[in-house]
Amino acid sequence: METSDIRDELTEILVTEQEIQEKLRELAARIDADYAGKDVLLVGVLKGAVMVMADLARSLHGHVEMDWMAVSSYGAGTKSSGVVQIRKDLDSDLTGRHVLIVEDIIDSGLTLSWLLENFASRGAASIEVCALLRKPEAAKVEIDCKYVGFDIPNAFVVGYGLDFAERYRNLRDVAVLAPHVYS
Ligand code: 5GP
Ligand code: MG
Ligand code: MG
Repeated sequence: METSDIRDELTEILVTEQEIQEKLRELAARIDADYAGKDVLLVGVLKGAVMVMADLARSLHGHVEMDWMAVSSYGAGTKSSGVVQIRKDLDSDLTGRHVLIVEDIIDSGLTLSWLLENFASRGAASIEVCALLRKPEAAKVEIDCKYVGFDIPNAFVVGYGLDFAERYRNLRDVAVLAPHVYS
């Protein structure tokens, strides 16, 4: 019987489970301090942010609520176009809320810049962004991301919520996908 190991489909572990957990505790401490006395509405962007949300939220000590948004970005190839369609909207009214968007990764930044504009029009009291990962390309679009976990090289990564064709989300580390998987 043929056996396959997911590890053979990865070239490099970029961020380990332990590094992720330590970083999220650091970010959570900053978030707790910055939002002291305020209720925070954490908005996770499905599906990639599921793991970040679960671990970040459990490291926070203040009152938080969680909501979810699903968006799809139209565009040819693997790069997002910035033309975003809402597939699942928030359940919450943002009026007067302190919103913290929780993201897995900022690549071009186009999806997030669209989300920020969209949320701003809904009357939130404040809107900030927390992203576990950020690629250098993100610098090309002005995204004010207050809480960043790791700046990583411009490689396609999977794991800890991030997928390739819906697979690999369950890896505990963030890793670079081996080229032979694409072909
Ligand atoms: P952006 O609009 O910033 O270019 O795209 C953001 C979205 O593209 C992320 O939320 C994520 O879903 C996807 N994405 C960007 N880079 C990567 C990557 O290296 N690996 C994976 N799996 N998804 C990525
Ligand atoms: Mg995402
Ligand atoms: Mg994806």
